[in-house]
Amino acid sequence: MSAAAPLEVLQRVWGYESFRGEQADIVQTVIDGGDALVLMPTGGGKSLCYQLPALIREGTAVVVSPLIALMQDQVDALEQLGVRAAFLNSSLDLDQRRFIEQQLVAGELDLLYIAPERLQQVAPLFDRTKLSLFAIDEAHCVAQWGHDFRPEYLQLDELGRRWPEVPRIALTATATVDTRREIVERLGLGNARQFVSSFDRPNIQYRIAPGSQARQALLKVIRDEHDGEAGIVYCLSRKSVEQTSAWLNEQGVEALPYHAGLSGDQRRRNQQRFLREEGIVVVATIAFGMGIDKPDVRFVAHLNLPKSVEGYYQETGRGGRDGLPSTAWLAYGLQDVVQQRRMIDQGEGSPVRKRAQSQHLDAMLALCETVECRRVQLLRYFGQESTACGNCDTCLEPPPTFDATVAVQKLLSTIVRLGRDYNQTFGAGHHIDVLLGRRTERIESRGHDQLSTFGIGRDVSEPTWRSIVRQLLASGILAVQGEYGVLAVTDAARPVLRGETELRLRQDLQTQKSARVSKHK
Ligand code: ADP
Ligand code: ZN
Repeated sequence: MSAAAPLEVLQRVWGYESFRGEQADIVQTVIDGGDALVLMPTGGGKSLCYQLPALIREGTAVVVSPLIALMQDQVDALEQLGVRAAFLNSSLDLDQRRFIEQQLVAGELDLLYIAPERLQQVAPLFDRTKLSLFAIDEAHCVAQWGHDFRPEYLQLDELGRRWPEVPRIALTATATVDTRREIVERLGLGNARQFVSSFDRPNIQYRIAPGSQARQALLKVIRDEHDGEAGIVYCLSRKSVEQTSAWLNEQGVEALPYHAGLSGDQRRRNQQRFLREEGIVVVATIAFGMGIDKPDVRFVAHLNLPKSVEGYYQETGRGGRDGLPSTAWLAYGLQDVVQQRRMIDQGEGSPVRKRAQSQHLDAMLALCETVECRRVQLLRYFGQESTACGNCDTCLEPPPTFDATVAVQKLLSTIVRLGRDYNQTFGAGHHIDVLLGRRTERIESRGHDQLSTFGIGRDVSEPTWRSIVRQLLASGILAVQGEYGVLAVTDAARPVLRGETELRLRQDLQTQKSARVSKHK
């Protein structure tokens, strides 16, 4: 083992003065041969956490990453620092692959990036190679009902079993408490030290605007607040990327499209211009941005509802990496919600998978509808408590609310009563049917029309009930349990049930008719 001190290597190889956040601890853990699970927001400096130990420990570090498109860039960047790095993925031909495999076995590499689907093929070589560590990047991809599941990740637990003496470090920028648990379980990281950085990005101002005139509103944001500055605009489809980018150009905003339908060459050119020139706006599908390291992106706009809070957080996180004030602006309309529900309903995948997708969408909608500080809610989603930030739209301009105490009491009593009907699982839709006094087959067969709460919620519309449920889920008064999406009342509901507090919720502004909580009940 080399005697070099981590800090000395950091300064000599990278030219950085000091470690950031928990980097020093993480790096030391791995250098000492321990496993680590690292949760750090995008831009936090995850790469260094395995790259630096790779230089200090003897042997080659194997880095598993699903981001094939970025491997070339990462390897180039390392080579510029004088680090011996290579990658193996589907973009190489047989000769290139052989060459790198020879280098690996000969101990001529400090780091080898590898796509998860290549692992089976290359693993036999590991027995003949001195390995310094395994790094598993984007570790949340192992979470089966997460937003980014990759089946090949499930095989990664083999690394720990076959080469138990090689330390492993798993990294992700996005993990709820559940996902974290799943990573530990599936990758066999029970003994790993966990490093959870704060997910707060205080310089990002979160704003979410309902409404139909999204493009016009976006233009106003750009002109009033970000004239001539770099930004990213996310759209759901290739077509809307093209249209929005053309429209922005007509309005005098220099915009470039980016989506998977463009040629690789065109994509590279647009990306390069975005990185090198000033004040370019990229209009993109979510294909854009993975690993883009541009510090001065001043705004990230969404013209559609993201599919999950994780996605929203990751995409907005591409703004303001330099720590200067930036805007995360989202506009969404009724048709977004309808369209996404339809995509889930008609999409492929098991009922369980659909229910997971539906819950992701509900969590996103809940964030949109909150009357609380957006940041408080966003961070709570990732298991972190915080106080109102003063730098989001709900803090700056409190939204209109209504007194929902009585309605919520009705809902909670219904949930409590149905909860006694054990052996049965009821989702939000069924509870709302009871409140609205609907004689569905399920209600009649279970005798739920005999409940004292049957029909007592007719004074509130179905969309409002849906919105109430989402808001209660978001604030933690309700929870969804298990894979069947059973609604349950939490301890936080007690004061409301006892009538000790008044509860104000956001008036549902735009989600009329649309927003079913979950069809997959
Ligand atoms: P992540 O993978 O967490 O999104 P990166 O590893 O790409 O983040 O790092 C983000 C940026 O921060 C990069 O430009 C990187 O060079 C820089 N960086 C990382 N660690 C340090 C440090 N200790 N000092 C200065 N800059 C750093
Ligand atoms: Zn706030």
